[in-house]
Amino acid sequence: MALTIDETHDPVRTSWVGSANGHPDFPIQNLPLGIFSPAGGDPRPGVAIGDQILDLRAIAHLLPAILNGSLASPALNALLQHPAADRNALRQSLSCLLSERRYEAGLRAHLHDAGRCRLHLPARIGDYTDFYVGIHHATNIGMLLRPDTPLLPNYKWIPIGYHGRASSIRLSGDAVTRPTGQRRDPERPQPVFGPSTRLDFELELGVWVGEGNMPGQPIAIGEAGRHVAGLCLLNDWSARDFQAWEYQPLGPFLSKNFHTTISPWIVTAEALAPFRVAQAERPAGDPAPLPYLWDEADQASGAFAIDLEVTISTRLMRERDLAPQRLSLSDAGAMYWTAAQMIAHHTVNGCNLESGDLLGTGTLSTSSPLGLGSLMEITRAGQAPVELPGGEVRSFLADGDEIGFTGRARREGFVPIGFGPCRARIAGGADWTPGALSGASRADLLQKSS
Ligand code: MN
Repeated sequence: MALTIDETHDPVRTSWVGSANGHPDFPIQNLPLGIFSPAGGDPRPGVAIGDQILDLRAIAHLLPAILNGSLASPALNALLQHPAADRNALRQSLSCLLSERRYEAGLRAHLHDAGRCRLHLPARIGDYTDFYVGIHHATNIGMLLRPDTPLLPNYKWIPIGYHGRASSIRLSGDAVTRPTGQRRDPERPQPVFGPSTRLDFELELGVWVGEGNMPGQPIAIGEAGRHVAGLCLLNDWSARDFQAWEYQPLGPFLSKNFHTTISPWIVTAEALAPFRVAQAERPAGDPAPLPYLWDEADQASGAFAIDLEVTISTRLMRERDLAPQRLSLSDAGAMYWTAAQMIAHHTVNGCNLESGDLLGTGTLSTSSPLGLGSLMEITRAGQAPVELPGGEVRSFLADGDEIGFTGRARREGFVPIGFGPCRARIAGGADWTPGALSGASRADLLQKSS
């Protein structure tokens, strides 16, 4: 696990790129990696610094030679395959180049205004797995379905997950087309086909896999942290009406695989070193994890101090120049399993992870009603709609609604770092209006548990 705190994290360090100093997301202490195209150029690796992007392909000759081959690629998979030590060497170089004035003249030509660049998915994502480690979310959803036993017996033994769909992962900013499919309305004996009437978001972190493993060779828990290349924000858009009808017995399918939004930058494990914290202690009475999921070092520093926020902006709010409204203030502290435990479990049966695979944490809600990571929880399955400025209400998402996430790693004595935007707007579905929600009822949800 990359836990070394060094001069690259020094809060006193500043950059000659003026906009980096005091930047909420991309000060010199962050240096997140991504793929971008400058105006008129082709996709290439870059690092975000303030409101600029530095072209890594163009300056590859100034960076550790071992990385040269991977910096020519229009995807970061090859770079992610490198051991953490190589990524750390890249970080050391970049921190030096972007802080010391003597490099400014040589590098200026390779800096691009981020606002004029096009961002791309940072890697070719071969596989995407979504976990369910947010224990408050799992409990809240379980309470709606099974008030007596909100958590199923496996929850505290296994990091629960399902295999998602990598092909429909999109970058922040790409519109979400309202999905069409089957739902079962409580008053009808047969399913109805049409646009989803219960479109929701899920506030999650994404874990980028660095080094992979060979088939049949599990990643041991003590090694698993080293396979985390970095994190992003992730919105696991969910059609709750489809989910309720389809999810038994094999889990979510079309309710989740139509679109997943991620933030564009890989905030590296090295950048996050100061923001590692101890995993929350398990409540008394919870089972101890099986040995293959237990590592003292992981327990001591396997969690992240990251604040998360969700906002909504509707078409009407934008027309009236109303600022986005906050829906939730959450954090990454409610993960019942660490990223390392997710990786150790994923591979324990011999399954191979590959560089550039993406793991979702599952929805991250806090124990507070102000920290809920989905509308399903905020509106209690539509029973308590939220009121918005301008007089609108929402149980679930309407066309034109835009959901935005922000994430910021914070710790006393360190410069906070962020992820950049993770937002998208609901498009299409012209034959659908929020009025269609009026028939939604608790019974609709409860049939899930039958
Ligand atoms: Mn999810």
